[in-house]
Amino acid sequence: MKLAGKSASAGVAMGPLYFFHRTPGQVRRRHIDEPKAELERLGTAKDLAFAQLGELYEKALVEVGEQGAALFEVHQMMLEDEDFISAIEQIINTESVNAEFAASRAGDTFAKVFSEMDDAYMRERAADVKDVAQRLVNCLTGETAGSIESDIPVIVAADDLSPSETVQMDKTKILAFVTSGGATNSHAAILARTMGIPAVMSAKGLDASMDGRFCIVDGSTGEAFVDPDPEQTERLSKKKAEEESHARLLEEYKGKPNKTKDGIEVLVYANIGRPSDLGLVLQNDAGGIGLFRSEFLYLERDSYPTEDELFLAYKTVAQTMAGKRVVFRTLDIGADKRIDYFDLPVEENPALGIRGLRLCLERPWLLHSQLRALYRASAFGKTAIMFPMVSSLWEVAKAKEIAEAARKELEAEGIAFDPSAEIGIMVETPAAAVISDLLAPEVDFFSIGTNDLTQYTLAVDRQNPGMEKYADTRHEAVLRLIKTVADNAHQHGIWVGICGELAADLTLTKRFLEMGIDELSVSPASVLKLRKAVCDTELGS
Ligand code: PEP
Ligand code: MG
Repeated sequence: MKLAGKSASAGVAMGPLYFFHRTPGQVRRRHIDEPKAELERLGTAKDLAFAQLGELYEKALVEVGEQGAALFEVHQMMLEDEDFISAIEQIINTESVNAEFAASRAGDTFAKVFSEMDDAYMRERAADVKDVAQRLVNCLTGETAGSIESDIPVIVAADDLSPSETVQMDKTKILAFVTSGGATNSHAAILARTMGIPAVMSAKGLDASMDGRFCIVDGSTGEAFVDPDPEQTERLSKKKAEEESHARLLEEYKGKPNKTKDGIEVLVYANIGRPSDLGLVLQNDAGGIGLFRSEFLYLERDSYPTEDELFLAYKTVAQTMAGKRVVFRTLDIGADKRIDYFDLPVEENPALGIRGLRLCLERPWLLHSQLRALYRASAFGKTAIMFPMVSSLWEVAKAKEIAEAARKELEAEGIAFDPSAEIGIMVETPAAAVISDLLAPEVDFFSIGTNDLTQYTLAVDRQNPGMEKYADTRHEAVLRLIKTVADNAHQHGIWVGICGELAADLTLTKRFLEMGIDELSVSPASVLKLRKAVCDTELGS
């Protein structure tokens, strides 16, 4: 039986379902004669809850790092919140009731206020308020939060999980989480992601009668299969094995330099198109971003993005990469990438027409706003700027002029930027490859775009599926051009990378390393396999 839900944390897990039992039941209302004694009980319980949260912080620090652990500092702040505490005290004083009842009622009231807020993030905080109130109640009644009573690891099922329940559980017993409620940006979901535990939330049809039954959770699709059929089992077992081999590679290569057996190092970077791809870059431990395709900031909308919109996107990427190099390519629109609001001229051969840097030079204001945004972002991380579709020296000179004008403006406006941000070009036309000796002194780096370099060198339309026979990606003509570009780059003391699809062709890794290619930039999913190929290579003398 398939339970469709929402993906909260990726990964496949298999095992028995275990329904999480909470010990505390309904909090009973009791009349008390002595409010003063109840207030004292409240004070003692509050101190105990505060200390527990301190311990949870320490536990989370080890398991999920500082960012995840910070949640429990927030819980401590909620617990100390004067409005919250005085609301409990007031209920005790005015209604002459026990402290646990007052704490539970105040918790519900505050959680309701959060749950009715407009902002989705604030609405999620209702779960945190409830969590804090429940802790206070438990400290008053002496009850402890539920635990997993199973000898073998299980898939934990529940209606919902609070952040502290998620952290408190014994991780060696958890294969995955499945909840019938919960939201994918709740703290429990965030913690599951940080701990790498697959999780599906809002799973429709989850029922306590399924306790103990065999289940497969697919966290990436947000599905759980109770008593799966053979097809589902086979398909998901395969997916699990692939994930495990990926995890092993990650374990082996994470944080390590990419050196051949004889010690030659190469940078392995990732290609991305939008800030939302950053998670994949980090998950695959890429050394940097070798190609950020700006065109995606222009596609999926119906008017030009403003400089500020571009800046925010570039800044997020630069900042998230925390000092690792990000090569931002300026807009490469035209040819196969067309946008209505650009009102591009109709051309007979658009791949040979106004595209990439050519379009940006025809409409200099387009390049100007990107360059201002990019330089502003350069104050937040190691930023490199790259121009696509270069075929002549004058194009580079013109683009650099616009870059200089942008820098001068920012300086005059007192806006921070990194004046040493590198400027490079894509080498993706045969012309650029052939005159790479003349281009090299003008730039800080080359990045070879083998997708277009192959198309233009072999006269094979990359969009035409009928040309496959002629589209030999390993054609000697292309490989020789790459070697020429690498030699010319090194003769002029600049670095050279490859960011076209060919960079991921593992049969060519050795050849690229022999040519002295300094950087290979591939899709995030190919990063680890390429790193393994580099480390397994021996160049010899
Ligand atoms: C290339 O041409 O190799 C390249 C990386 O650019 P795009 O595929 O975006 O044209
Ligand atoms: Mg290209």
